[in-house]
This record gives sequence, structure tokens and C-alpha cells, in this order.
Amino acid sequence: MSANTTRAKAIREITASSAVDGQLSEPLSEIWATDVFDLATMEEALSKNAFKAMKKTVQTGAPLDAAVADVVAAAMKDWALAKGAKFFSHIFFPMTNITAEKHDGFIVTNPEGKAITEFTGSVLIKGEPDGSSFPNGSLRMTNAARGYTAWDPTSPAYVMHTPNGATLMIPSVFMSWTGEALDKKIPLLRSNAAMDRAARRVLSLMGEVEIETLNSSCGAEQEYFLVDAHFANNRPDLLLAGRTVFGAAPPKGQEFDDHYFGAIPARVQVFMQDFEDKLYRLGIPAKTHHNEVAPGQFEIAPYFEAANVAADHQQLMMTVMKSTAKEHGFLCLLHEKPFAGVNGSGKHVNWSVGNATQGNLFDPGSTPHDNLNFLIFCGAVIRGVHLFGPLLRAVVASAGNDHRLGANEAPPAIMSVYLGDQLESVFADIKNGVTSASSDGGLMDLGLSQILPFERDPGDRNRTSPFAFTGNRFEFRAVGSGQSVSGPLVAMNTILADSLDWVADRLEVELAGTDQLAVAVATVLQEIMELHGSVIFGGDGYAEAWHVEAAERGLRNIPTTAEALPELMTPVVQELFERTEVLSRAELESRYEVYAEQYILSIGVEAALAAELARTVVYPAAMGYAADLARTLETGEQLGVAFDIGTLKSVAGTLDSMMVKVAALEEALETHLFDDTATHMAYCADTVVPLMSEIRTAADALELCVADEYWPLPKYREMLYIR
Ligand code: ADP
Ligand code: MG
Repeated sequence: MSANTTRAKAIREITASSAVDGQLSEPLSEIWATDVFDLATMEEALSKNAFKAMKKTVQTGAPLDAAVADVVAAAMKDWALAKGAKFFSHIFFPMTNITAEKHDGFIVTNPEGKAITEFTGSVLIKGEPDGSSFPNGSLRMTNAARGYTAWDPTSPAYVMHTPNGATLMIPSVFMSWTGEALDKKIPLLRSNAAMDRAARRVLSLMGEVEIETLNSSCGAEQEYFLVDAHFANNRPDLLLAGRTVFGAAPPKGQEFDDHYFGAIPARVQVFMQDFEDKLYRLGIPAKTHHNEVAPGQFEIAPYFEAANVAADHQQLMMTVMKSTAKEHGFLCLLHEKPFAGVNGSGKHVNWSVGNATQGNLFDPGSTPHDNLNFLIFCGAVIRGVHLFGPLLRAVVASAGNDHRLGANEAPPAIMSVYLGDQLESVFADIKNGVTSASSDGGLMDLGLSQILPFERDPGDRNRTSPFAFTGNRFEFRAVGSGQSVSGPLVAMNTILADSLDWVADRLEVELAGTDQLAVAVATVLQEIMELHGSVIFGGDGYAEAWHVEAAERGLRNIPTTAEALPELMTPVVQELFERTEVLSRAELESRYEVYAEQYILSIGVEAALAAELARTVVYPAAMGYAADLARTLETGEQLGVAFDIGTLKSVAGTLDSMMVKVAALEEALETHLFDDTATHMAYCADTVVPLMSEIRTAADALELCVADEYWPLPKYREMLYIR
């Protein structure tokens, strides 16, 4: 039996071209950060004083002198020109998950008509894109379009090579003329500063004298799918929505667990090497890669960096990933759920805070029970997650992520904290007012003489928790694969800042009554456990029983974006961001509007696609098959032969019910008048999405009964397994 001609052609082309042609990788020492204007480059290019000033700014966020900016600009220009750059661009991060750039030439002409290059400190410091076309959630009127970009010297500039030349890229913030944040970087920098202020207060109450600037760190694990472009080009849904709106599950999915950590297909290895070499040149420390759970799914995790730099690198990485995949004949899917019925993609955000003097404050050391700094910071996180669970849910809300959260593959939409056995018992002791030495993991001894015994971790891992302590950091697992890490980092830094301020207030009171620090700390921690200990959960987050128990504990389960985003507008969240000076009320509201609009637009595009594909692709294919079946039956009748009519009946019946739903969806999409954004989102979630899934059920049933050669859309088994 032959497959449909479109699909057969795609398969032929893939098998003919997938001969693997890897290049030799260049040594790391030769490519590492070669395209980055980093501290090492600056040390050579700048005067001693200018370098010293820059270094201080990079490491502590200290303000930079305008005169130094001039010196840096000149050196940056020379460096970039030598790398072939003719253009420069402030690169910034609007409120959507994308990056934006506006390119300017270094060129100016002099009165004699000669071309010279120019790049001054003031041009480096400030850019002025016409910002009106970026989403601003009504922060600016369209007629007040002025927006500024401003250089962020704490994230290194770099040269980006593309087929049409090299460009100097300058990481920047983006704000309105009135100074409101229109981007994702400003809140991240502010949240870091808020955390620093509050952490210093606590640390000095803890008796620390020398306290360097605190910074948050982030290491993000990125999951993604690769689909051959020959297939993707025949799937309008993958091209336009990044996910399949139809597609029956293949007989073999991920049940065998034979893909996870399996050998990486050769063609994918070649892609990874090329992609990682590009990352290395850009100074992005790609550290691990492996196959993920689903066939066709992979993961990459760079080594962790300062949160601000990590966030910029994450965006850059996603861009490089997609373009490199294209060069290798793949479509790289960063959507959270490209294929129904197989594992979706997330982005685990590993997060810690620390500085040069106190180290990583989430590092318990070997005796966490008497590591007071650690206990206080960990307690502050517990309090924050408990008080602001709905905020954490809201910052990972998107149309795509709704397919994962709570769908028994990703963490549930209930926010809880996993601590691991050791810490759980330490905090239980604190709550009960007893002290005991913490148990460590002990030696792992398999009793096999050739395997050296090693030290076991003090706690197992729990894959089902959205917010897990993993040894020396917290891992926020609910983040979607396509999302910027900035929103989650802002939320985590801000709730920590707020909790640390609360802790500092409480410590001040307690320390007035005792000169024993440990006693004061224990009292505050005990209070945290009394009030917020219910957020700690070490069990199975996928189990139905947890939903019931969580409700009893008062932990909210917020299944959809439509319900999650309005949480941004609650008074507790508004006050949190105002108190910590991370976002003004207007800035927060604008974010709500922008994210809500994105959700509504995504659902709108998917729904329109589903209706169109059902009408123009699925219907004709199934009708063609039905018509041929009917003709055959007629011939049989003439010959006096009775063929089976069951298939025809079921195709006709399913087609009929599908088209009824298509008409209903098309009508639903005509509705445009809504009282407010929340109502519009609810309409998407409660009316549009269910209609789409009903159409899908019918279309997928048809795929499983229409003869293969009639079916034009590449099937799951092909997209997931052929590469
Ligand atoms: P796993 O899959 O076991 O969770 P990975 O090694 O794939 O772990 O990724 C863990 C991520 O956490 C990496 O990006 C790593 O650099 C990062 N990480 C490690 N330590 C810290 C830390 N203290 N703070 C923030 N991120 C960290
Ligand atoms: Mg992980």
C-alpha cells in the first residue's frame, strides 16, 4: 500500500538527503566567546581606568561614567569593525517572548563625501526605536510612540554573524518616554536589586559584616522537538501555530521509554554540534544535551550564569537554535505541546541567589540544621511560594503551557515546594521546636567491588513537583519551553525580596529580646512553618489524591491561562510589586493586558487553523475516500457482491459531526464583543478550546480510518520517527 503522494515524496526526499555530513568540531579554546566583547576583550582594548570602571559595573551594577562610555564605545566599534560588522543594534526584549532589534550603520559621510565610521558613547547608551508597534498594554497611546532603548553594560555585547553580514548587538532595556518599563529586562534588573536590598538587611541582622552585592543566578534546561522540514512544510499548523492541531497518536509512542537518554540520532548530533559551536562563539556555555522522553524530543542546558545574562542568553539561544535547525533541514519546535499524546516541552528554571562573601545562600552545606543563613533564605522561599502561588502560576501561563500544566506529564497547576527528605525533616523539627542533627544520604555501596562507593545525595528527586529544591538551588519546573525565563525570575526574585524584608522585620523584633541569634532565627522559622508549612509537599503531584489534599490545605489549582492571568491584577500581587519597587501598578497592568492579548491571539490563530484545515484538507481527503468506497459498493451491488459498508458509514458519520463542529467554531470566532479582557479569555478557554478539541477528536478518528493514500497531512509516526 502506498502512502499519500505528498507524504511519500517527503519521505523519499528525507531518506535521500539524510546522509550525515558532520564537520570536525573546532577546539573550545579557539571558539569560546570569540564574538563577545567580554571582560577579557575589554581588558586588552581599554585603558586601565576604563577597564576598572567597566569591571565594577559588570560585577556590581555600579553606575558608569559618561566619559568611560565614550572610551568603551570607541573600543567596541573598532573590535566590531575588525570582525566585519558594518551595523550595530540595540537588542531588547519587549513584553512578548521575542527579541527586537533595530539596525543602524556605523557609517557617516563627511563633506567630501567620504565614508567614515562613527560610534560615540551617547549612541551606545541610548537608542530610539519607533516603539509604537511593540505591545505596550496601553502604557502609551499610539500617538505617543516615543520609546528608548538604553545600553545594559552588565550583559556583554557581541557580534552576530548571519548570511547577510555581521552586526554588533548591544543588550538593552526598553522604556517609554515617561520612563515606564516596556520590556522584560527592566523588571528583572529591578527584582534583582530588590532581592539584594532585602538580602543585605537580613544578612547584616545575621551578624555578617562584609556583604558584597547579591545576584540571582539562572540555569535553564530547554526542551525542544526537531521535525524534518519536508514534513513540517506540509503541516500548516506546525508552521503557523508551532503545534499540530490534528494528528492521531501512533501505535508506538513513548511507552517503551526507549528514547529518553537513548543514543542521539546521527543527524541530530551533527545539528547539536553545529548549534553548540555557535553558542560557544557567542559565549553561551552549553553544558549538557540528551534525548528527551518523547521521540524526536531533545534537551539542552547551558551552565548557569547571572540571571540577567542567562535571560539574554536564553533568548539568543532560542534564536540560534531555530536558525541552525533550519540550516540542517529541521523545524525546531519550542512550543509546549507540539504533539498531543506525547510528552510536551518545558523549561526548568534553576535559580539561586548569592554573592562573593556569603556564597550561594541556597547551599545547605553538610549540616543544614545549623546553617542559619541557609535556613533563613530557604524559609523565605517557602513563605513566598505559599503566599504567591497564584502569581507563580500566572507567570508561566500561556496558551501552549495550558496543555502541559496539570496534564500528568508536567507539574500540576498547584504550586507547592519539594524539599527532599533531609530538609523536610529539618523543617519539621523546626516546626516542632526540636533540634536534631540532619541525616545525610550516607554512602551508596552496591556491594560490587569494581564500582567505587560514592556519597549519596541527602534526598531523592521528585519529578512531579513544580518547585523543587535540588541540592543548592530551586528548580521551577512549570515554565514553558517557549517562554522567556525573565517573568519567572522576576517573580522568584520579587517574592524572595518581599519575604526577606518580612524576615528582617521579624528578626529585628526578636533580636531586641534576645542576644542569641539562633534563638531569634528559630522563632522566626517556626512562625514561617506555622503559617506557610502547608506549601511543602513531598508526595506524588500527579496523583488525584493530591488535588483533594491541596484543596484542603488551601493551595489553589488554577488550570488555565484564562484563570491564571487575572491573578496578576489582585491587590496582593499589585502591592507586592509596588512595595518591592519592581513594577508600578500601570506597568503590571500593561503586562496583564499584553499576556492576555497574546493568549487570545494564539487561541484565535489555532482555532482559525483548525477550522480551515478541517474544511479544506481533512474534509476533502475523507470525502474522496468515501466517494471511492461508495463507487466500489455500487459496483459490488451491480455484480451481486456485498461489500462491508461499515467503514463508509463511519467515515460519513464522523465527517458529518466534524463539520457541524467546524460550523459552530466558525460562528464562535465571529463573536467579538466582550466586556473586558478576562471575559474574552474565559470565552476562549470555555467555548473556543472545547470546540477545537471536539473537531480534533473527529479528525483524528478519520485519520485512523481513511485509507493511508488519501491522507495528505504527515502523520505523527512519520514526523516523530523519520529523520
Ligand atoms: P537536571 O536535568 O538533573 O535537573 P541539568 O544538569 O540538566 O540537571 O541542569 C541543571 C541546571 O541547573 C544547569 O543549567 C546548571 O548549570 C544549573 N545549576 C546548577 N547549579 C546551580 C545554581 N547554584 N544556581 C542556578 N543554577 C544552577
Ligand atoms: Mg532539571
